[in-house]
Amino acid sequence: MGRIQLKQVKKAFGDVTVIPPLDLEIEDGEFVVFVGPSGCGKSTLLRLIAGLEDVTGGVIEIDGADATGLPPAKRGLAMVFQSYALYPHMSVRKNIAFPMKMAGVPQDEQEKRISDAARALNLTDYLDRRPGQLSGGQRQRVAIGRAIVREPSAFLFDEPLSNLDAALRVGMRMEISELHEKLETTMIYVTHDQVEAMTMADKIVVLQAGVVEQVGTPLDLYRAPQNRFVAGFIGSPK
Ligand code: ADP
Ligand code: MG
Repeated sequence: MGRIQLKQVKKAFGDVTVIPPLDLEIEDGEFVVFVGPSGCGKSTLLRLIAGLEDVTGGVIEIDGADATGLPPAKRGLAMVFQSYALYPHMSVRKNIAFPMKMAGVPQDEQEKRISDAARALNLTDYLDRRPGQLSGGQRQRVAIGRAIVREPSAFLFDEPLSNLDAALRVGMRMEISELHEKLETTMIYVTHDQVEAMTMADKIVVLQAGVVEQVGTPLDLYRAPQNRFVAGFIGSPK
């Protein structure tokens, strides 16, 4: 589970085309990074996959089924926002439980998933605190925990570390990579940071103005950038 295919997916806001028809395949269990400069359409593409925006044309398939018209809650995906999307008045436990409550998951199953997520994210001792009583990294882990308990077929991250300081960012990158190894679930990770892309990805999708410039492993892109834009962006010698 977690195979995502985009077929001629297009997005325009009014007269402005942000994503010209685009094809992309994401395999089950892959860690895919969308990278490109600010304004190139990374968030829009992620929001189209999540169902938070409607496509202007084309088809999105999730695990072989047409998901193009499905609302976000029916797609089986979980989007991880920056940590400030937590509810400040709720404990960590309640923040993590919230999506399960909404989905009607039975209480004992909720407890089990919370303790599993807390263990995976080193949050066991913090479940009764509020977000304001946590560090930036811990808050980001709570945001990830809230996604994990939904048991999605894929996680969608939109620049989740961009409001953390540099040292914390390096640690969180490693934690997210470890989590991917543990869960073996598809992850799509959006960033404008080349280092993040090169260190985390199984597969990198380089975007410029809504166009896929190249898709490949970090090594492919480094050794054989297809054009000057990719070479310049990735920092390889072409
Ligand atoms: P990125 O995440 O790569 O920085 P975005 O996907 O946020 O880029 O934006 C891509 C382009 O689409 C930008 O030019 C942005 O101004 C435009 N855009 C994004 N959302 C909207 C919207 N709701 N209405 C109009 N234009 C939008
Ligand atoms: Mg963005």
